[in-house]
Amino acid sequence: MQPYLSIYPYHLPPADELTPGQKDGIECVYCPGGDAGTMRPVGHLRGTMLFAHTGCADENRMENH
Ligand SMILES: [Zn+2]
Repeated sequence: MQPYLSIYPYHLPPADELTPGQKDGIECVYCPGGDAGTMRPVGHLRGTMLFAHTGCADENRMENH
């Protein structure tokens, strides 16, 4: 079961595969180590907002949302 708060229309990587930076909302959840560029909130994990590059987020957006 995913621990994500599922109010965001994005497919997120498995929570246990995220890097510490990704879990802290610093790095893009789709490219580990990617912390530069424009980010958008894509999820919520245990009280922390998760972010992704706008381009990465668009690629992982669920259909019908
Ligand atoms: Zn990215």
